[in-house]
Amino acid sequence: MATIIDGKAVAARVRAEVAAGVSALVAETRGPPGLATVLVGEDPASAIYIANKQKASAEVGIEGRDHRLAADVSQDEVAELLASLNDDPAVSGILLQLPVPAHLDGDALTALIDPGKDVDGLTPISAGALAQGRPGLRPCTPLGVIELLDAYDVPLEGTEAVVVGRSLLVGRPLVFLLLERNATVTVCHSRTRDLPAVCARADVLVAAVGSPRLIGADAVRPGAAVIDVGINRTDDGLAGDVDFEAASQRAGLITPVPGGVGPMTIACLLRNTLQAARAAHGAARVR
Ligand code: NAP
Repeated sequence: MATIIDGKAVAARVRAEVAAGVSALVAETRGPPGLATVLVGEDPASAIYIANKQKASAEVGIEGRDHRLAADVSQDEVAELLASLNDDPAVSGILLQLPVPAHLDGDALTALIDPGKDVDGLTPISAGALAQGRPGLRPCTPLGVIELLDAYDVPLEGTEAVVVGRSLLVGRPLVFLLLERNATVTVCHSRTRDLPAVCARADVLVAAVGSPRLIGADAVRPGAAVIDVGINRTDDGLAGDVDFEAASQRAGLITPVPGGVGPMTIACLLRNTLQAARAAHGAARVR
């Protein structure tokens, strides 16, 4: 029976570290880090995500700015707001909540965010820096996955890691983070032949698909660390991409859903905001 990874506990530890880092930065600069969130429209799920991010920011001493724009706002109006946030020294991090309404180009808007304030790590500059192994802000959910593996002392160097999913948000950046840690990485997607056989090679298996219980026991190597990023709403409540009951009979370590990767995403967003504020402060000092 697998050990269950406690994402809430690890996230609480990260948040406490961020709170301490914020206090130290405030003592040095007299200004708290600022996180500006931008929500376009009234999608209820997005509104909950933003409220959670704002609440978590306040709890660690990060100053929140909650920008709400009407669903019919124009591309230029959103671009203007992003430009003003880029120029505002009190704003350390900017988060544009995706998806934006269909008449807007979310990729083009994301690309307008100053890479130094790109706390979601989703601009092309941040993605390119990650792909090239240069410093930069990294996407929060993949960072959370690595943090969980580290918290449970899962070795990565030289191990077989299999990532299921190649989205820009999760799968793809995670591949580069695992490569950075010298894992041997295989990426699976919707056209992969014999998914269970490929997954069963993994010492570290990460599922980021969006398909409830896709990964069964036959896809889990005995003793593997299994990280389930999926959040799927089903008739029986929330389910991950991994069949938890079956997979936990074979895995060595496994994340539950909820309570695994989920809490790590916001914790890593807070850490990125602190990192961005520290970097901006350092840059201001050398000027
Ligand atoms: P996404 O953009 O829809 O990407 C899904 C990926 O899964 C795609 O690369 C797709 O392949 C692949 N895929 C789909 N069906 C597959 C199959 N049958 N076999 C193998 N691969 C398959 O999703 P995402 O944004 O990465 O999110 C993935 C899941 O994570 C969702 O449940 C989402 O809610 C959850 N999520 C959780 C957090 C968190 O904080 N815990 C954060 C973000 C996302 P193709 O590229 O070939 O289409």
